[in-house]
Amino acid sequence: MLLPRFDLVEPESLAAALEALADSAVSSRALAGGTDVVPDLKREYDRRLRFSALPAFRPGPFPERLVSLLRLAGLRGVRRDAAGTTCGPLATMSELAADARLAGALGALADGAASVGSPQVRNRATLGGNLCNARPCADTAPPVVALDAVLVLESRGGTREVPAREFFTGPGQTVLGPGELLTAVRLPPQPGACGSAALKLGVRRAYEIAIVSAAAWVALDGERVRAARVVFGSAAPVPLRVDDAGLAGRVPDEPALRDAARAAAAQTKPIDDFRASAAYRRQASEVLAFRVLERAVARARGAA
Ligand SMILES: Cc1cc2nc3c(=O)[nH]c(=O)nc-3n(C[C@H](O)[C@H](O)[C@H](O)COP(=O)(O)OP(=O)(O)OC[C@H]3O[C@@H](n4cnc5c(N)ncnc54)[C@H](O)[C@@H]3O)c2cc1C
Repeated sequence: MLLPRFDLVEPESLAAALEALADSAVSSRALAGGTDVVPDLKREYDRRLRFSALPAFRPGPFPERLVSLLRLAGLRGVRRDAAGTTCGPLATMSELAADARLAGALGALADGAASVGSPQVRNRATLGGNLCNARPCADTAPPVVALDAVLVLESRGGTREVPAREFFTGPGQTVLGPGELLTAVRLPPQPGACGSAALKLGVRRAYEIAIVSAAAWVALDGERVRAARVVFGSAAPVPLRVDDAGLAGRVPDEPALRDAARAAAAQTKPIDDFRASAAYRRQASEVLAFRVLERAVARARGAA
């Protein structure tokens, strides 16, 4: 498939990138690793070549300019300080999957990143691109919501912070306004015995879009659960978060985790599509929820 013509700008500073995106004279789109943007452009160009003569044809959006973020060193990497752990939106899936600071309590994010595509895709695909693209099957979205992350959004007009659970508004849709960039993903500190995990179900282990996915975060107080969250992907239009699921105060043994998984999966709103039926997705959600809870508890015990 061919690419259409577009301008590429590569700002050296965040201010210059925000300025370029705010220019309403040209339709612009941010470009990170390009693993979603480039296929999108090719698909739309191909669609126009094939179908634009048809009376019912409606063209999709085409940016005239791509604003590359790749020279913005401040948006890279992972930092840890007293306020928690901050991931730059340009952190790649390979970097997140291999980062020892994302083990244990923050393990869900490393699990989600490790499950994306293939090594080549993971070396290129970024956390920011995965979240801002907002596909219901995005592998890092459930972990980020389960970890109660805060997303920092910046535009020429200022900065705002949005809880990850409020960021996604529908398939492919977020609260990002025109000219706004995601500039940081803040993961809160994890005091005490916390653990998290994520898993996805597909028909093969690589190059696979999730039929359904789940992430869990658990905090223990001694032998009992202090707090828990389960988040499903591909089970609703946006990541679906279930707080507690009846686990608080219980010893997280197998019956308790199975009860919680059943309660959490009952809240999913999956659809039938060519990948799976809604009924299968709901059943698989319960199995995945049990497994991620079990893994999160084991990681929390390891941290105790
Ligand atoms: C072969 C293949 C396999 C894949 N497999 C998977 C998979 O298994 N799981 C999965 O979840 N995804 C998968 N993807 C999709 C894709 O790789 C991910 O969504 C990836 O994380 C996107 O990141 P990117 O840096 O390439 O984003 P880009 O393509 O550069 O951008 C994606 C979108 O986000 C916007 N954007 C990027 N950064 C920012 C920012 N900082 N602020 C505001 N907007 C921003 C862009 O404008 C664009 O709309 C796959 C893609 C391919 C091509």
